[in-house]
Amino acid sequence: MTMVVFYVFIIASVIIMAHKFYGLGGLFHKLMANQRLRLRYKNPMEAHSRFYQLLPAKSKARFEHKVNYFILTKEFIPRNMPEITDEMVALISATAVQLTFGLPNVSLSHFNKILVYPNDYYSTINRQYHKGEVNPRLKSIVLSWHHFVEGFAHPADGRNLGLHEMAHALKLENFIRNEEFGFFSKEEFANWQLIAQAEMDKIKKGEESIFRAYASVNEDEFFAVSIEIYFEQPHQLYAYNSELYKTLSNLLRQDAKQLYDKNPSL
Ligand SMILES: [Zn+2]
Repeated sequence: MTMVVFYVFIIASVIIMAHKFYGLGGLFHKLMANQRLRLRYKNPMEAHSRFYQLLPAKSKARFEHKVNYFILTKEFIPRNMPEITDEMVALISATAVQLTFGLPNVSLSHFNKILVYPNDYYSTINRQYHKGEVNPRLKSIVLSWHHFVEGFAHPADGRNLGLHEMAHALKLENFIRNEEFGFFSKEEFANWQLIAQAEMDKIKKGEESIFRAYASVNEDEFFAVSIEIYFEQPHQLYAYNSELYKTLSNLLRQDAKQLYDKNPSL
């Protein structure tokens, strides 16, 4: 009997605490909303995100939570098309989370708008067609859906527009003074800069490189292109330049190669 009283007391305390902090209705609503989100966005990730497919079950749950948070804190805006589909929201968010999965408190918080065009779009600023861009002044990440999908269709060719643009956003976010500021280790970032410069010089000289010529345009582009290769060709990158691979792993605090090693069939 005393045990029953004890359990009733514990349950009542938990309810009172939950009510105090969230409002009981609010807590229930939050849990339900989270569950609904999970179901809506899980299928596209299971079907198309190689990174998500490779994660062990426990990490998948953490990945989904991070995706939900990303979705809830961003505004997805369709451009030159009627609406943004669940698949678009899921895969764009999954790409951002793939990049930030080892950085628990990073969700690219400065960039609260995701603009999606059906195809490449004309930029009036530099009078050129773009496939994607990141604009810190407008706090926005812009993507051409057609080119974004191409990245998913060929997950091991070292090209991925989504990863490329998210990488630009991540590097900028590290230097923007907000609650996410300075998540890259300063020492590792300095290491990466030295290696990046040496690689860019190699490309400019026309020496053989794993990187396409565009990577030598500047440090930002080198970072974005190297992130594409880090996730799509981790073994090749490690074989090509293990120091660069390790530095990227240390900055992102994850190891793409290890994830693929555990699942050699994928
Ligand atoms: Zn770029």
